[in-house]
Amino acid sequence: MSSEEIDLHASLKKYFGFSQFKGLQEDVIKSIVEGKHTFVIMPTGGGKSLCYQLPALIQEGTAIVVSPLIALMKNQVDALRGISKENGIAHVLNSSLTKGEIKQVKEDISNGITKLLYVAPESLTKEEHVEFLRSQKISFVAIDEAHCISEWGHDFRPEYRNLRQIIKRIGDAIPIIAVTATATPKVQEDIMKNLGMTSEANSFKASFNRPNLYYEIRPKTKNVDADIIRFVKQNQGKSGIIYCLSRKRVEELAQVLQVNGVSAVPYHAGLDAKTRVKHQDMFLMEDVDVVVATIAFGMGIDKPDVRFVIHHDIPKSIESYYQETGRAGRDGGEGHCLAYYSYKDIEKLEKFMSGKPVAEQEIGHALLQEVVAYAETSMSRRKFILHYFGEEFDNETGEGGDLDDNVRNPKKKHEAQEDVVK
Ligand code: ADP
Ligand code: MG
Repeated sequence: MSSEEIDLHASLKKYFGFSQFKGLQEDVIKSIVEGKHTFVIMPTGGGKSLCYQLPALIQEGTAIVVSPLIALMKNQVDALRGISKENGIAHVLNSSLTKGEIKQVKEDISNGITKLLYVAPESLTKEEHVEFLRSQKISFVAIDEAHCISEWGHDFRPEYRNLRQIIKRIGDAIPIIAVTATATPKVQEDIMKNLGMTSEANSFKASFNRPNLYYEIRPKTKNVDADIIRFVKQNQGKSGIIYCLSRKRVEELAQVLQVNGVSAVPYHAGLDAKTRVKHQDMFLMEDVDVVVATIAFGMGIDKPDVRFVIHHDIPKSIESYYQETGRAGRDGGEGHCLAYYSYKDIEKLEKFMSGKPVAEQEIGHALLQEVVAYAETSMSRRKFILHYFGEEFDNETGEGGDLDDNVRNPKKKHEAQEDVVK
């Protein structure tokens, strides 16, 4: 073992209190410490932040972290401040700061106190900031949620596309670290191309297999509500999330469940903040078993023992489906992912897109076609998902290879289409 490795483990323990790296973290960190351009794909919860935080803490200079969400930046900065007596160890630079605060941030950077500087892409484009950062020692630039660069990602942000030029102006030789949980080859290619990451960049991709999740698709008939009630009752006492497309459906289904003796609460962005927090807490504290929600629910929610995720309506991409089903079985225990599918719902989703720019519609359509293929396939669902993410999977030898409806009960394709009313 080289002294470097010992150091990394010691730093991991010292700063984060962990005694082991998770997955590919150590290799990623070595690549960053060596000053290489580094591209990291790991599923949500894989521990991507630590991949750039640790090298930032042990290297000279300030690492710039580009992140799309102020809330996410704040969380990370607070956590980092908790590990140091020095408040200036991490800062956020954004438009909400006063002149005085900005001055303080810049002083801390100049004095070598600040190891991580979190910025939104908009702030990084500001000329005065670029000028200032040019004159500082920057260890590297980490781009979190790097899929925002790609129109094929689920969260495209135009500001992300100019990052490369700005980074170049801050410093020609600054290593770039791009991290994302989006694994489709298309998005990956886009990111690398846009950032000018060539063959000399190091790429790391963790497996996206979730071996403890069971995937199942059922045809969506007019009896879908009764079917859901039956399922939930069979799983009484277990925590579950039911996703619906519209707020109205969320309300209706939550009520239907309540009337049928299931403890359930609704959650969507139309509820006032107080109610949302209350319902979320009820779910987290297990005062209710089930939350019926739009996709507004889930971001940043970390309940380890969610035992089922039901999609009353099929999501608009395989990625959304993967993210949402991924909230089941975080603790490694059972997680049943059940989605109801009818082609009518696909048509509905197509219709929603019709007002959007043509290019966006085309992408949306292509993503939806993959969902159709997934829902209608008779092959292993796990194999399909992993293939979509550019990963080979062998059901005979791979972990969780027998955990989906198509593998468990191979059936003829047309059966899945029967009785589709809605
Ligand atoms: P991601 O950004 O990939 O979704 P995060 O960086 O938010 O994931 O990390 C997810 C969780 O994993 C966090 O609670 C973090 O503290 C934890 N974690 C990260 N690295 C380790 C490790 N080496 N050992 C134990 N827990 C870790
Ligand atoms: Mg993250």
